[in-house]
Amino acid sequence: MKKLLAAAFCCTLTLGVSAQVTDWKIATKYDKKSAKEQLTKRFTHYVTFDTQSDPLATKVPSTPGQVRLAKELAKELKKYGAKNVQVSANAIVTAEIPATSNKPAPTVAFIAHMDTAREVSGKNVKPQTHKDYKGGDIVINAQHNIVINAQNSPQLAQAIGHDIITASGGTLLGADDKTGVSIIMTMVQYLYDHPQMQHGPIKIAFTPDEEVGTGVDKLDVAKFGADYAYTVDGGALGELTNETFTGKAFKAVFTGNRAVHPGFAMNSPFEDNVLMASDFHTLLPRQSRPETTSGHRGYIYLDIFQTQGDTTTVEGILRAFSDEEMNALLAQLNQALRTVKAMHNKGTATLEVTDEYRNFNEKLPPLMISLAQNAMTQEGIKPVLHAARGGTDGSILSFKGLPAPDLFSGQFNVHSEREYADVDVMEASLRTVLRLISLWGMQSKN
Ligand SMILES: [Zn+2]
Repeated sequence: MKKLLAAAFCCTLTLGVSAQVTDWKIATKYDKKSAKEQLTKRFTHYVTFDTQSDPLATKVPSTPGQVRLAKELAKELKKYGAKNVQVSANAIVTAEIPATSNKPAPTVAFIAHMDTAREVSGKNVKPQTHKDYKGGDIVINAQHNIVINAQNSPQLAQAIGHDIITASGGTLLGADDKTGVSIIMTMVQYLYDHPQMQHGPIKIAFTPDEEVGTGVDKLDVAKFGADYAYTVDGGALGELTNETFTGKAFKAVFTGNRAVHPGFAMNSPFEDNVLMASDFHTLLPRQSRPETTSGHRGYIYLDIFQTQGDTTTVEGILRAFSDEEMNALLAQLNQALRTVKAMHNKGTATLEVTDEYRNFNEKLPPLMISLAQNAMTQEGIKPVLHAARGGTDGSILSFKGLPAPDLFSGQFNVHSEREYADVDVMEASLRTVLRLISLWGMQSKN
C-alpha cells in the first residue's frame, strides 16, 4: 500500500499542479484476482448460448441463438452504464462509453464476434475450469478419451499456474470469440466501476457471423462513428495481427475435342481437356503449395476441378502477403498455362484472375500498432506482430474505412473439441485494452 501511494504521488508531481494520476492501474487500484473472477464468470456464462453460425443461411444473423446472446449483451451493457445501446436488425450490438477526460481524444472501438465455428457443435456447451494448471495433458472427457495433448498444444507450456477453461466433450468451447466478448464486457464494467480513470470516447460492437464471413459487413461504419478499432479475437499472449494475406481467385478453362472415338484418336483432331487441366495442375510448382508454405510465404491452391464434355474448368486461389510475391505466383500460373498450350495445340486454354481481398496492413495507421505495442510493453507483455494466413473481420472493416488490427484474447485450439481459453491470458488482454484506452485518451483528435 505504501509503495502504491508513493508511486501515485510521484506521478502527480511530474504532471504538474492540476494533473490527475494518469496511470490507469494506480488510479484504479487494479486487482488481478477479481478481474480473473469476472472474466471467468462472464465467459462460462456466454459459452452456454448456442451461437454457431450457419454458412448455408442467406440472412444475417444466420442463426437465432446469436440474437439471444445479442440481447443479453445489450442488457449487460446498459447495466454497466454504456450509452446508446442498440441491437440492429442484423443482431449487431453497438454501444458507446462517453469520455471522462476533457481533452478531445479520438474515438476508439473494441469489437468481438458472438458466433462460433461450424466445425463442431456449439449446443449444450458445458464449460469446466481447470484451475492452476500444473503442466501435462488436460483431460476434457475421460470416457470419450478427449484430451488436450500438451505436446500438440505448445502454448500450454507457457500456461503453468494459469486457469484453463475447456468444454466437456462433444462440443466446441466457443473461446473463439467469447474470450473477446468477455474481455470487452469486463472492460466496460471496469470503466463503470472506476469513473476516475481518464479516457476518451469509446465504442463497442459485438457482431454476428464472423465465421461465415458475412456479419461485420452489415456494420454501418459511418454511423458507428469510431476513428480507430481493435478486434479482440487473437490467440497467444502479446499477439498483434497487423497483416493478412492478399487474396485472388482464378479460373482456368481448358477446351479439348473428345467427340472423336478414342479408338481413332491418333492423327485426329482429338484433344483431351481433362489431361490439359491435370497437366496444368502438375506444372504448378510444388514449393508454392499450401502444404509446403508457412509464415510469410503464400501459395497457389486449386480447389475445383470440373469436366463437362469438351470443357474442364479449374478454379483456385492465390494467397500472398506482398504484391511482389503475388506477382511471382501469377507468373507461375501464367507459365503453367503457356506450357499447357504448347503441349496441347489442338485445344484452347484461358485464364481469368479476380481480386478477393487485400492485405489490410496498408490501411493501418502506424500509430494504432505502436500504441498497442506500447500498451503491451507497459503491462509487461512482449508484443508479437502476427501475419494472419487468412482474412479477418478487421480486414473487412479496414477497407470499409475503419482500420482494425487484432489483439490477442487467450483462445487456443479453436474450431475443435480441444478448444480452450486461458484465463490468465484473457486477463493480460484486459489490461492491454485498459492501458490502450488510457494511451489513446492522451492522443489529440485531429
Ligand atoms: Zn474469431
